[in-house]
Amino acid sequence: MVIQRAKGTQDILPGMIEKWQFLEETIRSVCQEYGYEEIRTPIFEVTELFQRGVGDTTDIVNKEMYTFLDKGKRSLTLRPEGTASVCRAYVEDKLYTGALPLKLYYLGPMFRYERPQTGRFRQFHQFGVEVLGGDKPVVDAEVISLVWDFYRRLGLGGLEVHVNSVGCPNCRQQHAQELQKFLTERYEQLCRDCQDRFERNPLRVLDCKNPLCRELTEGAPTTLDLLCADCSQHFQRLQALLQAAGVVFKINPRLVRGLDYYCKTAFEVVVEEIGAQSAICGGGRYDRLVQEIGGPPTAGIGFAMGMERVLAALEAQQKLPESGKSGFAMVVALGAEAQKEGFRLVSKLRQERIPVSIDLTERSLKAQLKSADRLGVNFALILGEQELEKEVLIVRDLQLGEQYEIPLSEAHISLSQKYREGATQ
Ligand SMILES: [Zn+2]
Ligand SMILES: [Zn+2]
Repeated sequence: MVIQRAKGTQDILPGMIEKWQFLEETIRSVCQEYGYEEIRTPIFEVTELFQRGVGDTTDIVNKEMYTFLDKGKRSLTLRPEGTASVCRAYVEDKLYTGALPLKLYYLGPMFRYERPQTGRFRQFHQFGVEVLGGDKPVVDAEVISLVWDFYRRLGLGGLEVHVNSVGCPNCRQQHAQELQKFLTERYEQLCRDCQDRFERNPLRVLDCKNPLCRELTEGAPTTLDLLCADCSQHFQRLQALLQAAGVVFKINPRLVRGLDYYCKTAFEVVVEEIGAQSAICGGGRYDRLVQEIGGPPTAGIGFAMGMERVLAALEAQQKLPESGKSGFAMVVALGAEAQKEGFRLVSKLRQERIPVSIDLTERSLKAQLKSADRLGVNFALILGEQELEKEVLIVRDLQLGEQYEIPLSEAHISLSQKYREGATQ
Protein backbone atom coordinates (compact mmCIF):
# COMPACT_ATOMS: atom_id res chain seq x y z
CA MET A 1 0.00 0.00 0.00
CA VAL A 2 1.20 3.49 -0.83
CA ILE A 3 1.93 5.56 2.25
CA GLN A 4 0.10 8.87 2.18
CA ARG A 5 0.85 12.10 4.00
CA ALA A 6 -0.97 12.61 7.30
CA LYS A 7 -4.42 14.15 7.13
CA GLY A 8 -4.38 17.94 7.05
CA THR A 9 -0.78 18.26 5.84
CA GLN A 10 0.51 19.22 2.42
CA ASP A 11 3.60 18.96 0.29
CA ILE A 12 4.83 22.22 -1.15
CA LEU A 13 6.13 21.22 -4.54
CA PRO A 14 8.27 22.90 -7.18
CA GLY A 15 5.94 25.22 -9.08
CA MET A 16 4.36 26.28 -5.78
CA ILE A 17 7.55 26.75 -3.78
CA GLU A 18 8.51 29.83 -5.83
CA LYS A 19 5.35 31.51 -4.52
CA TRP A 20 6.29 30.68 -0.96
CA GLN A 21 9.79 31.99 -1.52
CA PHE A 22 8.38 35.22 -2.95
CA LEU A 23 6.22 35.62 0.16
CA GLU A 24 9.08 34.79 2.52
CA GLU A 25 11.42 37.23 0.80
CA THR A 26 8.84 40.00 1.05
CA ILE A 27 8.39 39.25 4.77
CA ARG A 28 12.12 39.39 5.42
CA SER A 29 12.72 42.57 3.49
CA VAL A 30 9.83 44.51 5.04
CA CYS A 31 10.77 43.37 8.56
CA GLN A 32 14.40 44.25 8.07
CA GLU A 33 13.55 47.71 6.78
CA TYR A 34 11.40 48.30 9.86
CA GLY A 35 14.22 47.12 12.12
CA TYR A 36 12.64 43.84 13.25
CA GLU A 37 14.88 40.84 13.90
CA GLU A 38 14.01 37.22 13.29
CA ILE A 39 13.59 34.78 16.17
CA ARG A 40 13.32 30.99 15.79
CA THR A 41 11.84 29.07 18.69
CA PRO A 42 11.36 25.28 18.94
CA ILE A 43 8.54 23.51 17.12
CA PHE A 44 7.47 21.87 20.40
CA GLU A 45 7.28 23.26 23.92
CA VAL A 46 6.15 21.99 27.30
CA THR A 47 2.35 21.88 27.26
CA GLU A 48 2.00 24.20 30.24
CA LEU A 49 3.38 27.10 28.21
CA PHE A 50 0.32 27.12 25.97
CA GLN A 51 -2.12 26.38 28.80
CA ARG A 52 -0.86 29.49 30.57
CA GLY A 53 0.20 31.59 27.62
CA VAL A 54 -2.73 31.05 25.26
CA GLY A 55 -5.32 30.48 27.97
CA ASP A 56 -7.07 27.28 28.94
CA THR A 57 -10.52 28.63 28.07
CA THR A 58 -9.67 28.85 24.38
CA ASP A 59 -10.59 26.36 21.66
CA ILE A 60 -6.95 26.19 20.67
CA VAL A 61 -5.92 24.80 24.04
CA ASN A 62 -9.08 22.81 24.76
CA LYS A 63 -9.62 21.11 21.44
CA GLU A 64 -6.92 21.72 18.90
CA MET A 65 -3.49 21.00 20.38
CA TYR A 66 -1.18 18.22 19.32
CA THR A 67 -0.13 17.11 22.81
CA PHE A 68 1.85 13.98 23.54
CA LEU A 69 4.04 12.37 26.19
CA ASP A 70 7.65 11.87 25.21
CA LYS A 71 9.65 8.83 26.33
CA GLY A 72 10.53 10.66 29.55
CA LYS A 73 6.79 11.09 30.26
CA ARG A 74 6.94 14.86 29.76
CA SER A 75 3.84 16.45 28.27
CA LEU A 76 4.88 18.30 25.12
CA THR A 77 2.83 20.17 22.52
CA LEU A 78 3.51 21.06 18.90
CA ARG A 79 3.21 24.85 18.91
CA PRO A 80 -0.27 26.00 17.86
CA GLU A 81 0.85 29.65 17.57
CA GLY A 82 3.98 31.74 18.00
CA THR A 83 3.39 34.40 20.64
CA ALA A 84 3.70 32.21 23.75
CA SER A 85 7.04 30.81 22.59
CA VAL A 86 8.45 34.26 21.82
CA CYS A 87 7.43 35.46 25.28
CA ARG A 88 8.94 32.34 26.86
CA ALA A 89 12.23 33.03 25.05
CA TYR A 90 12.07 36.68 26.14
CA VAL A 91 11.91 35.57 29.78
CA GLU A 92 14.17 32.53 29.63
CA ASP A 93 16.90 34.17 27.54
CA LYS A 94 16.58 37.43 29.52
CA LEU A 95 16.02 39.46 26.38
CA TYR A 96 14.62 42.24 28.61
CA THR A 97 18.16 43.15 29.66
CA GLY A 98 18.85 44.58 26.19
CA ALA A 99 17.49 47.72 24.55
CA LEU A 100 13.70 47.92 24.66
CA PRO A 101 11.32 47.72 23.01
CA LEU A 102 12.48 44.52 21.40
CA LYS A 103 11.16 44.11 17.87
CA LEU A 104 10.94 40.52 16.64
CA TYR A 105 9.38 38.53 13.82
CA TYR A 106 9.00 34.84 13.13
CA LEU A 107 7.73 32.57 10.42
CA GLY A 108 7.27 28.84 10.33
CA PRO A 109 4.91 25.89 10.76
CA MET A 110 2.24 25.73 13.46
CA PHE A 111 -0.02 22.80 14.34
CA ARG A 112 -3.69 22.61 15.18
CA TYR A 113 -5.97 19.62 15.18
CA GLU A 114 -8.83 21.08 13.15
CA ARG A 115 -11.30 19.60 10.73
CA PRO A 116 -9.45 19.84 7.42
CA GLN A 117 -11.28 21.96 4.86
CA THR A 118 -10.34 24.05 1.86
CA GLY A 119 -7.40 26.24 2.76
CA ARG A 120 -7.20 24.96 6.33
CA PHE A 121 -4.45 22.59 7.36
CA ARG A 122 -3.34 20.86 10.52
CA GLN A 123 0.20 21.88 9.76
CA PHE A 124 0.04 25.45 8.53
CA HIS A 125 2.44 28.38 8.45
CA GLN A 126 2.35 31.70 10.21
CA PHE A 127 4.21 34.94 9.90
CA GLY A 128 4.05 37.06 13.03
CA VAL A 129 5.58 40.08 14.69
CA GLU A 130 5.98 40.76 18.43
CA VAL A 131 7.16 43.94 20.12
CA LEU A 132 8.03 43.48 23.78
CA GLY A 133 8.69 46.19 26.35
CA GLY A 134 6.88 49.07 24.63
CA ASP A 135 3.54 50.33 25.91
CA LYS A 136 3.16 53.57 23.95
CA PRO A 137 0.52 54.06 21.25
CA VAL A 138 3.27 54.66 18.68
CA VAL A 139 4.33 51.02 19.09
CA ASP A 140 0.83 49.86 18.15
CA ALA A 141 0.84 52.26 15.21
CA GLU A 142 4.19 50.96 13.95
CA VAL A 143 3.08 47.33 14.11
CA ILE A 144 -0.13 48.11 12.22
CA SER A 145 1.74 50.18 9.61
CA LEU A 146 4.18 47.33 9.10
CA VAL A 147 1.44 44.86 8.27
CA TRP A 148 -0.33 47.42 6.09
CA ASP A 149 2.88 48.09 4.16
CA PHE A 150 3.58 44.40 3.84
CA TYR A 151 0.27 43.72 2.08
CA ARG A 152 0.67 46.73 -0.14
CA ARG A 153 4.12 45.56 -1.17
CA LEU A 154 2.66 42.19 -2.10
CA GLY A 155 0.20 44.06 -4.29
CA LEU A 156 -2.87 42.89 -2.39
CA GLY A 157 -5.88 45.17 -2.85
CA GLY A 158 -9.30 45.58 -1.22
CA LEU A 159 -7.83 45.78 2.26
CA GLU A 160 -9.16 47.46 5.36
CA VAL A 161 -7.71 47.59 8.85
CA HIS A 162 -10.22 47.20 11.67
CA VAL A 163 -9.20 48.52 15.06
CA ASN A 164 -10.77 48.46 18.47
CA SER A 165 -9.79 48.87 22.07
CA VAL A 166 -10.79 46.11 24.47
CA GLY A 167 -9.60 48.14 27.44
CA CYS A 168 -7.49 47.25 30.44
CA PRO A 169 -8.49 44.88 33.29
CA ASN A 170 -10.23 47.81 35.04
CA CYS A 171 -12.52 49.03 32.29
CA ARG A 172 -12.88 45.52 30.97
CA GLN A 173 -14.34 44.26 34.21
CA GLN A 174 -16.94 46.98 34.15
CA HIS A 175 -17.73 46.13 30.57
CA ALA A 176 -18.11 42.44 31.43
CA GLN A 177 -20.67 43.35 34.08
CA GLU A 178 -22.65 45.58 31.73
CA LEU A 179 -22.49 42.91 29.09
CA GLN A 180 -23.75 40.21 31.44
CA LYS A 181 -26.62 42.50 32.43
CA PHE A 182 -27.47 42.93 28.77
CA LEU A 183 -27.18 39.22 28.00
CA THR A 184 -29.12 37.88 31.00
CA GLU A 185 -32.53 38.15 29.37
CA ARG A 186 -31.14 36.68 26.14
CA TYR A 187 -29.22 33.87 27.84
CA GLU A 188 -31.60 31.05 26.87
CA GLN A 189 -31.27 31.84 23.16
CA LEU A 190 -27.46 31.98 23.10
CA CYS A 191 -25.57 29.05 21.62
CA ARG A 192 -24.06 26.48 24.01
CA ASP A 193 -20.57 27.93 23.65
CA CYS A 194 -21.80 31.42 24.44
CA GLN A 195 -23.72 30.21 27.49
CA ASP A 196 -20.42 28.84 28.63
CA ARG A 197 -18.65 32.13 27.84
CA PHE A 198 -21.33 34.12 29.67
CA GLU A 199 -19.72 33.31 33.03
CA ARG A 200 -16.10 32.79 32.09
CA ASN A 201 -15.48 35.46 29.48
CA PRO A 202 -18.62 37.33 28.35
CA LEU A 203 -16.59 39.56 26.03
CA ARG A 204 -16.09 36.61 23.72
CA VAL A 205 -19.83 36.35 23.11
CA LEU A 206 -19.35 39.40 20.85
CA ASP A 207 -16.92 37.32 18.83
CA CYS A 208 -19.31 34.40 18.18
CA LYS A 209 -19.90 33.52 14.53
CA ASN A 210 -23.32 32.01 15.18
CA PRO A 211 -25.91 34.20 13.31
CA LEU A 212 -28.44 34.12 16.14
CA CYS A 213 -25.79 35.13 18.69
CA ARG A 214 -24.76 37.98 16.42
CA GLU A 215 -28.34 39.14 16.22
CA LEU A 216 -28.85 38.85 19.98
CA THR A 217 -25.78 40.95 20.70
CA GLU A 218 -26.87 43.71 18.34
CA GLY A 219 -26.85 46.89 20.45
CA ALA A 220 -24.89 45.32 23.31
CA PRO A 221 -22.61 47.70 25.26
CA THR A 222 -19.21 47.85 23.57
CA THR A 223 -15.83 48.17 25.22
CA LEU A 224 -15.52 51.63 23.67
CA ASP A 225 -18.51 52.85 25.70
CA LEU A 226 -16.70 52.03 28.93
CA LEU A 227 -13.01 52.79 28.36
CA CYS A 228 -11.15 54.40 31.26
CA ALA A 229 -9.31 57.69 30.65
CA ASP A 230 -5.95 56.00 30.06
CA CYS A 231 -7.30 53.43 27.56
CA SER A 232 -9.33 56.09 25.83
CA GLN A 233 -6.33 58.36 25.35
CA HIS A 234 -4.21 55.45 24.09
CA PHE A 235 -6.85 54.67 21.48
CA GLN A 236 -7.20 58.30 20.37
CA ARG A 237 -3.46 58.65 19.88
CA LEU A 238 -3.26 55.40 17.95
CA GLN A 239 -5.89 56.66 15.53
CA ALA A 240 -4.07 59.95 15.00
CA LEU A 241 -0.83 58.10 14.23
CA LEU A 242 -2.50 55.71 11.80
CA GLN A 243 -4.01 58.67 9.99
CA ALA A 244 -0.59 60.32 9.81
CA ALA A 245 0.85 57.14 8.25
CA GLY A 246 -1.93 56.93 5.68
CA VAL A 247 -3.28 53.61 6.92
CA VAL A 248 -6.90 53.10 5.88
CA PHE A 249 -8.73 51.90 8.98
CA LYS A 250 -12.11 51.72 10.55
CA ILE A 251 -13.24 51.30 14.14
CA ASN A 252 -14.95 47.99 14.72
CA PRO A 253 -16.34 47.75 18.27
CA ARG A 254 -17.22 44.05 17.79
CA LEU A 255 -13.61 43.15 17.30
CA VAL A 256 -12.61 41.46 20.56
CA ARG A 257 -10.27 38.59 19.53
CA GLY A 258 -10.57 35.15 21.04
CA LEU A 259 -7.60 35.11 23.38
CA ASP A 260 -7.84 36.02 27.03
CA TYR A 261 -4.69 38.05 27.42
CA TYR A 262 -5.44 40.84 24.96
CA CYS A 263 -5.86 44.36 26.26
CA LYS A 264 -6.25 47.82 24.75
CA THR A 265 -5.57 47.68 21.01
CA ALA A 266 -7.05 44.84 18.98
CA PHE A 267 -6.88 44.85 15.21
CA GLU A 268 -7.56 42.81 12.12
CA VAL A 269 -6.85 43.27 8.47
CA VAL A 270 -9.79 42.20 6.33
CA VAL A 271 -9.74 41.56 2.63
CA GLU A 272 -12.64 42.02 0.25
CA GLU A 273 -13.59 38.72 -1.33
CA ILE A 274 -16.44 37.67 -3.55
CA GLY A 275 -19.35 39.24 -1.72
CA ALA A 276 -17.75 39.13 1.72
CA GLN A 277 -14.95 40.42 3.89
CA SER A 278 -12.74 38.04 5.80
CA ALA A 279 -9.84 38.49 8.18
CA ILE A 280 -6.39 37.84 6.83
CA CYS A 281 -4.40 38.98 9.86
CA GLY A 282 -5.18 39.42 13.54
CA GLY A 283 -3.30 41.06 16.32
CA GLY A 284 -3.37 43.08 19.45
CA ARG A 285 -1.80 44.19 22.66
CA TYR A 286 -1.14 41.66 25.43
CA ASP A 287 0.37 43.53 28.38
CA ARG A 288 -0.20 40.68 30.87
CA LEU A 289 1.08 37.69 28.95
CA VAL A 290 4.76 37.81 29.89
CA GLN A 291 3.85 37.97 33.59
CA GLU A 292 1.39 35.14 33.08
CA ILE A 293 4.25 32.85 32.12
CA GLY A 294 6.50 33.96 34.98
CA GLY A 295 8.38 36.95 33.56
CA PRO A 296 8.67 40.58 34.64
CA PRO A 297 5.73 42.92 33.88
CA THR A 298 6.15 43.59 30.17
CA ALA A 299 3.97 45.30 27.63
CA GLY A 300 3.60 43.43 24.36
CA ILE A 301 1.86 43.74 21.03
CA GLY A 302 1.92 41.64 17.91
CA PHE A 303 0.05 40.07 15.04
CA ALA A 304 0.03 36.77 13.20
CA MET A 305 -1.23 35.71 9.82
CA GLY A 306 -1.64 32.38 8.10
CA MET A 307 0.70 32.27 5.13
CA GLU A 308 -1.52 29.82 3.23
CA ARG A 309 -4.30 32.36 3.63
CA VAL A 310 -2.16 35.19 2.22
CA LEU A 311 -1.15 33.07 -0.76
CA ALA A 312 -4.79 32.19 -1.45
CA ALA A 313 -5.74 35.89 -1.39
CA LEU A 314 -2.87 36.75 -3.74
CA GLU A 315 -3.89 33.90 -6.03
CA ALA A 316 -7.50 35.10 -6.06
CA GLN A 317 -6.35 38.60 -7.04
CA GLN A 318 -3.84 37.20 -9.52
CA LYS A 319 -0.99 38.96 -7.80
CA LEU A 320 1.37 36.02 -7.56
CA PRO A 321 4.41 36.16 -9.83
CA GLU A 322 4.39 33.52 -12.54
CA SER A 323 6.92 30.88 -11.63
CA GLY A 324 8.90 31.65 -14.76
CA LYS A 325 11.46 28.90 -15.09
CA SER A 326 14.42 30.30 -16.89
CA GLY A 327 18.05 29.61 -17.34
CA PHE A 328 20.68 31.00 -19.57
CA ALA A 329 21.77 27.95 -21.52
CA MET A 330 21.78 24.19 -21.72
CA VAL A 331 24.49 22.02 -23.21
CA VAL A 332 23.18 19.45 -25.64
CA ALA A 333 25.90 16.85 -26.13
CA LEU A 334 25.94 13.76 -28.34
CA GLY A 335 28.40 11.00 -27.49
CA ALA A 336 30.74 10.45 -24.56
CA GLU A 337 33.54 12.63 -25.89
CA ALA A 338 31.22 15.58 -26.59
CA GLN A 339 29.64 15.11 -23.16
CA LYS A 340 33.06 15.41 -21.53
CA GLU A 341 33.84 18.65 -23.42
CA GLY A 342 30.36 19.97 -22.65
CA PHE A 343 30.77 19.12 -18.99
CA ARG A 344 34.08 21.00 -18.93
CA LEU A 345 32.36 24.07 -20.37
CA VAL A 346 29.43 23.87 -17.95
CA SER A 347 31.78 23.57 -14.98
CA LYS A 348 33.69 26.69 -16.02
CA LEU A 349 30.50 28.69 -16.51
CA ARG A 350 29.09 27.50 -13.18
CA GLN A 351 32.21 28.69 -11.41
CA GLU A 352 31.31 32.13 -12.70
CA ARG A 353 27.82 31.63 -11.28
CA ILE A 354 26.17 31.57 -14.68
CA PRO A 355 22.99 29.45 -14.60
CA VAL A 356 23.58 26.65 -17.08
CA SER A 357 22.65 23.01 -17.26
CA ILE A 358 23.68 19.98 -19.25
CA ASP A 359 21.50 17.21 -20.58
CA LEU A 360 21.40 14.28 -18.14
CA THR A 361 19.56 11.75 -20.27
CA GLU A 362 21.94 10.99 -23.19
CA ARG A 363 18.94 10.89 -25.50
CA SER A 364 18.67 12.01 -29.14
CA LEU A 365 19.36 15.57 -30.33
CA LYS A 366 15.66 16.15 -30.86
CA ALA A 367 14.73 14.95 -27.37
CA GLN A 368 17.47 17.04 -25.77
CA LEU A 369 16.40 20.18 -27.64
CA LYS A 370 12.84 19.57 -26.51
CA SER A 371 13.87 19.50 -22.89
CA ALA A 372 15.96 22.68 -23.38
CA ASP A 373 12.79 24.27 -24.67
CA ARG A 374 10.80 23.05 -21.69
CA LEU A 375 13.40 24.47 -19.31
CA GLY A 376 12.91 27.84 -20.95
CA VAL A 377 16.61 28.50 -21.53
CA ASN A 378 17.72 31.14 -24.02
CA PHE A 379 20.41 29.11 -25.73
CA ALA A 380 21.08 25.49 -26.58
CA LEU A 381 24.81 24.80 -26.89
CA ILE A 382 25.15 21.89 -29.25
CA LEU A 383 28.18 19.61 -29.39
CA GLY A 384 28.40 16.46 -31.56
CA GLU A 385 31.22 14.50 -33.16
CA GLN A 386 31.37 16.85 -36.16
CA GLU A 387 31.66 19.91 -33.97
CA LEU A 388 34.38 18.27 -31.90
CA GLU A 389 36.35 17.56 -35.03
CA LYS A 390 35.99 21.16 -36.23
CA GLU A 391 36.57 22.38 -32.64
CA VAL A 392 33.45 24.51 -32.66
CA LEU A 393 30.28 24.86 -30.64
CA ILE A 394 26.84 25.52 -32.13
CA VAL A 395 24.97 28.26 -30.31
CA ARG A 396 21.26 28.04 -31.05
CA ASP A 397 19.12 30.98 -29.98
CA LEU A 398 15.89 29.24 -29.03
CA GLN A 399 13.83 32.42 -29.08
CA LEU A 400 14.93 33.66 -32.51
CA GLY A 401 15.39 30.18 -33.95
CA GLU A 402 18.82 31.16 -35.34
CA GLN A 403 22.11 29.42 -34.84
CA TYR A 404 25.80 30.04 -35.44
CA GLU A 405 29.16 28.49 -34.60
CA ILE A 406 31.85 29.77 -32.26
CA PRO A 407 35.32 28.30 -31.66
CA LEU A 408 35.16 25.82 -28.81
CA SER A 409 38.31 27.25 -27.22
CA GLU A 410 36.66 30.67 -26.86
CA ALA A 411 33.21 29.38 -25.95
CA HIS A 412 33.60 30.00 -22.24
CA ILE A 413 34.65 33.63 -22.67
CA SER A 414 32.15 34.56 -25.31
CA LEU A 415 29.26 32.90 -23.48
CA SER A 416 30.05 34.59 -20.20
CA GLN A 417 30.19 37.92 -22.05
CA LYS A 418 26.82 37.17 -23.61
CA TYR A 419 25.39 36.37 -20.20
CA ARG A 420 26.66 39.60 -18.60
CA GLU A 421 25.27 41.64 -21.47
CA GLY A 422 21.89 39.96 -21.08
CA ALA A 423 21.94 40.51 -17.33
CA THR A 424 22.57 44.25 -17.64
CA GLN A 425 19.88 44.85 -20.25
ZN1 LIG B 1 -8.78 50.94 30.86
ZN1 LIG C 1 -22.70 31.97 20.25
